[in-house]
Amino acid sequence: MKIVRLRSGRDDITYGGVEEEGIRLYRGTPFVAWEPTESLVTFEEAELLAPVLPTKIVAIGKNYADHAAEMDSVMPDEPLMFLKPATSVIGPHQPIVLPSQSTNVHHEVELAAVVGKVAKNVSAENASDYLLGYTVANDVTARDLQAADGQWTRAKGFDTFCPLGPAIETEFDPGQGWTISCSVNDGLRQEGVLTDLHFGVGELLEHVTAVMTLLPGDVLLTGTPAGVGPIEAGDVVECSIEGIGTLRNPVGKR
Ligand code: MG
Repeated sequence: MKIVRLRSGRDDITYGGVEEEGIRLYRGTPFVAWEPTESLVTFEEAELLAPVLPTKIVAIGKNYADHAAEMDSVMPDEPLMFLKPATSVIGPHQPIVLPSQSTNVHHEVELAAVVGKVAKNVSAENASDYLLGYTVANDVTARDLQAADGQWTRAKGFDTFCPLGPAIETEFDPGQGWTISCSVNDGLRQEGVLTDLHFGVGELLEHVTAVMTLLPGDVLLTGTPAGVGPIEAGDVVECSIEGIGTLRNPVGKR
């Protein structure tokens, strides 16, 4: 099933399930209890929002060998994790805002695992029990600030630097050789396959939850393949994962 969050009507924000003719509105949330309603909205009527509002986003650096190589870096022995703030999240079609502090902001398409229930000390084998599903993320990064600061909080923490969506696919198996790609203005920039993930989702969840508790709705970004590059005001960035969907965001200037 594909789960979305949407604005339906003037002020109503609800979860929905994608069906053939439109989006079925649900009562409740997929994290506690929910049930379908009679209401179906058309794809044209629905304003999609980020499919989840995490309390935190845990992201993994250098998890594809080709990306580590393009950064003149070596693969880490253990997953390299960092945090992006919850306030960096935006949904499909919302603009990525370029901050005045940077002159070199990059796209990074990533597979995002969405946590479905409280997860602490999870083993790799049981990881899928703790996941609601998967969505697409763009780990937008101010590359110049990343280099200048020596750590990544500022470079990856600006408002709008974590587009998520368009939907959470609950049946997705990242172990298949799905294509992950990013285009800017229809020009292909990044293309990889999920089987090239160095540390798999299970290993990552085990590693992260040995450190911190993940809460329902928290998001784990699993790293980006080679081909990262700059985005500029006026660009349209499309991040795609076969089997999940395409996350499209325009780029604007502050
Ligand atoms: Mg990244």
